[in-house]
Amino acid sequence: MMYVYRGSKKNEPLNRTKHLVGGRHRAVCGTPAGYQAHRRHNEEQCERCAAAHRLDVMHYSNHGRQKVAECGTPAGYQRHRKKLEEACGPCKAAAAAQRRELRKRAAA
Ligand SMILES: [Zn+2]
Ligand SMILES: [Zn+2]
Repeated sequence: MMYVYRGSKKNEPLNRTKHLVGGRHRAVCGTPAGYQAHRRHNEEQCERCAAAHRLDVMHYSNHGRQKVAECGTPAGYQRHRKKLEEACGPCKAAAAAQRRELRKRAAA
């Protein structure tokens, strides 16, 4: 005799209701947006959302809201220029290398 799973899930409607709030899909748990959704609905944070939020906060405290161009890249050089500061050595080198590369390509 075959084992029959008692709470047969086959006939249960897909459990979508908890993902729908006011007919709209809410943010997925485990994301910063999910964290915001819990807050909006005055719910307790689930573990995944709390973890996602912690990561998010950590990330922003390390890097700020905007992605910062790394030094030693042409983008880093541009960042120095935009802030009207002298580019650091690695950035100057990266920019110089890029210029050389562009000239080579233009000549080819
Ligand atoms: Zn959640
Ligand atoms: Zn730099």
